Amino acid sequence: MGKRVYFFGNGKADGDAAQRNLLGGKGANLAEMTNLGLPVPPGFTITTEVCAEYEKGSSEATIERLQQPVDAALRSIEGILDRKFGSAERPLLLSVRSGARVSMPGMMDTVLNLGLNDRTVRGLARLSGNERFALDSYRRFLQMFGDVVMGVDGELFEHALDQAKDSKGYGADTQLDAGDMAKLVDRFQQIIRDAAGKEFPQDPYEQLWQSVMAVFRSWGNDRAVAYRGMHGISGAWGTAVNVQAMVFGNMGDDCATGVAFTRNPSTGERAFYGEYLVNAQGEDVVAGVRKPLPIGRSDGGEESLEAIMPEVHGMLIATAENLERHYRDMLDLEFTIQNSKLWMLQARSGKRTGAAAVRIAVEMVSEGLIDQKTALQRVSPEQLEQLLHPAVDPNAAYEVLARGLPASPGAASGGLAFSAEEAVEASAQGRRVLLVRRETSPEDIRGMEAAAGILTQRGGMTSHAAVVARGMGKCCIAGCSELQLDEAAGVLMIGQKRFDRDSRLTLNGNTGEILEGEVATVEAELEDDFRTLLAWANEHRRLHVRANADTPDDSRRARAFGAEGIGLCRTEHMFFGEDRIAAVREMIVSQSKEQRQRALAKLLPFQRDDFVGIFEAMDGLPVTIRLLDPPLHEFLPHADDEIQRLARELEVPAEKMRRIVEGLSEFNPMLGHRGCRLGLSFPEIYMMQVEAILRAACEAKRRGIVPIPEIMIPLVGIREELAQLRELTISRADSVLRDEGVELAYSVGTMIEIPRACMVADKIAEVADFFSFGTNDLTQMGFGFSRDDAGSFLPYYVESGVLPRDPFQSLDEEGIGALVESACRLGRVTKPDLKLGVCGEHGGDPSSVAFFHRAGLDYVSCSPYRVPVAILAAAQAALAERALA
Ligand code: PEP
Ligand code: MG
Repeated sequence: MGKRVYFFGNGKADGDAAQRNLLGGKGANLAEMTNLGLPVPPGFTITTEVCAEYEKGSSEATIERLQQPVDAALRSIEGILDRKFGSAERPLLLSVRSGARVSMPGMMDTVLNLGLNDRTVRGLARLSGNERFALDSYRRFLQMFGDVVMGVDGELFEHALDQAKDSKGYGADTQLDAGDMAKLVDRFQQIIRDAAGKEFPQDPYEQLWQSVMAVFRSWGNDRAVAYRGMHGISGAWGTAVNVQAMVFGNMGDDCATGVAFTRNPSTGERAFYGEYLVNAQGEDVVAGVRKPLPIGRSDGGEESLEAIMPEVHGMLIATAENLERHYRDMLDLEFTIQNSKLWMLQARSGKRTGAAAVRIAVEMVSEGLIDQKTALQRVSPEQLEQLLHPAVDPNAAYEVLARGLPASPGAASGGLAFSAEEAVEASAQGRRVLLVRRETSPEDIRGMEAAAGILTQRGGMTSHAAVVARGMGKCCIAGCSELQLDEAAGVLMIGQKRFDRDSRLTLNGNTGEILEGEVATVEAELEDDFRTLLAWANEHRRLHVRANADTPDDSRRARAFGAEGIGLCRTEHMFFGEDRIAAVREMIVSQSKEQRQRALAKLLPFQRDDFVGIFEAMDGLPVTIRLLDPPLHEFLPHADDEIQRLARELEVPAEKMRRIVEGLSEFNPMLGHRGCRLGLSFPEIYMMQVEAILRAACEAKRRGIVPIPEIMIPLVGIREELAQLRELTISRADSVLRDEGVELAYSVGTMIEIPRACMVADKIAEVADFFSFGTNDLTQMGFGFSRDDAGSFLPYYVESGVLPRDPFQSLDEEGIGALVESACRLGRVTKPDLKLGVCGEHGGDPSSVAFFHRAGLDYVSCSPYRVPVAILAAAQAALAERALA
């Protein structure tokens, strides 16, 4: 183990911004800012390696190893500030905060004002000339320490505080005087004694060690684990601990604290953007207890920091510009003003919406701050998806009930949920709800995830709700003070109007408006910056990106989003249309080949017309059409009355119909009579589809369109399956072409979605023009996890670490990926230029896209909305590969 403690202060730091893995994001940036000569309170960072060491060992051993370097660092801080830790005359107070490699907002614990005790509090009172402030700081410390370190229920302190206010008839904490605070200090110590069964430690060193250990422990708490699970953060990374001299924003009216972004985090506009509170501690801003005010005069007028403290404001702007030029990124800043002096507490890459990420990346290229490649890496593919989300229809008529802050864009409507649990429950039952809360806290994270949108009464643009919702790409309106909320009763009043769980509201996250009822939404338009970024991505990627689309509409949308063809057209989706399901059913229950052919003849024109529309939308681009895949049973009714009706319609006795339906039911339909197995036992179904495809292609060609049909046979595991079907397909296709008198190239390939196919891919390739990996089925059959039933245990597998993530969302590279690699290798042994693609859900998952790039596929195919996501992910994969080369 290298150095355990990294000091920073007085313009010099042991570490720098490059050491984020070791020092955590916060520690690395504090070091960097110190090195830049910015006003950073001195302190030190205990490395993430120590956290890992702590997790394997014990507190005692960890403390023993830290003793000497921590003492040395404390002496340096004392020297710089002319204070002493534990001194009753000139006490040094500390903050202790977590700081992981990537930011996990509010997920782990923090202790402020550390070092206060019954003696040092008097020193603080003398130094600040403000006894009330000193006692208030002490009671805040007792509360945080009691809660975070000693495990005392935080509500007990809140309750005592409320009692103190009520007994005097006060409305706000600020009305409590020094005498009240002194009583609260005693009361809080008593609460700790009663609840923890121990004394609050008066010894500052003991306070420090216990707090450091508590931060390490908090790495393993439930909300941190849940947050890591959602964001794919490894539990092995650990958190660093930052110990830093306290500066106070709550020592009087020449003090303040605030948070700011160097550009607008919602829109990306190049304008300094922030909020602050006079005479407050940082937690007050983030927790949303008091409503923060805008920093700039243009938004905040005479209440703004710019108006109230013009000089400090000037310093802040200059510092922000300096930092942005240095980091070449949009930053999130935390600062405190103590007696009119500015202190920088944090600078880190700011969280932003997808829209802001794209705009900032593109504008920073034109400002000369970054190059195109960096810009491409600055936007996460998932963020792009947000931009494609619907917005409230500008032409819809609606009533605006109230306005809050437009904290995260998009539109969402639904019923109401008044707690995280309610939201989780509602979404499990398939109900769409908006989570309505006074404010949110990290405990609400699962409810926020389950809700369609989030609405809070308190809190600003940097409140927990706002930050987390933006990260999730979820529509959020924060700080809507017009709401009157009774969470327990499940009632929301807006003015005179009453809403409950069954009411319907719509949130417009772009404007902050709350609308009555469910208001229509419209598809998003692609902005110029977005197109610019995608154009850059196109220059750098090797993988082609296609879409999974079954209708002309979807195909057009996919093409507008940049799709270069269709990778999967699931023909069965066309079978469910009102006008065709009857013919499909007639075909299925047919008792003879002739009868079946008559039914199929009715279907053929429908299928042909669908295909013409798709070829038109994809003029000049390849269109892979898969022949029928699901078991026939899926197309039949199952309720008795419907079976009877079908029997009447098809003039079959009801009893016989019942037997037919039963006869088609299977124990394991996913492993049953489906895919090419159907094609082999009922070739006339596939032949109707082949004919429809080719007739459509001929028709398209006559209309001047360039159709490129690729006929795909699903679920092949045996060479002979494909060999036989290929022969039938080619013979029917060629006879259609002869009949139409049209010359046209088409190809016949297969899906690779059965593990056996991956092992014999060299033989299958002899009769295939292309492979397209069906990674949904390949995952299902490779793991032996039913796609339809895995929900009962997979979430547990992921939570308990049996699997790192859901393999149906993100490809399991180790196992299923190895099957894919085997098939690629063997397939290309037979045909070196065999075309390879993927059309399972993984085709739109960024980390899977990176894998498919490395595996040497030609294209990925995904849902239309994810096409831009895949395009960017493909470019990033190519850039990452070049960076390694
Ligand atoms: C697959 O199995 O990955 C696939 C694309 O086919 P489906 O999801 O229709 O089974
Ligand atoms: Mg499949």
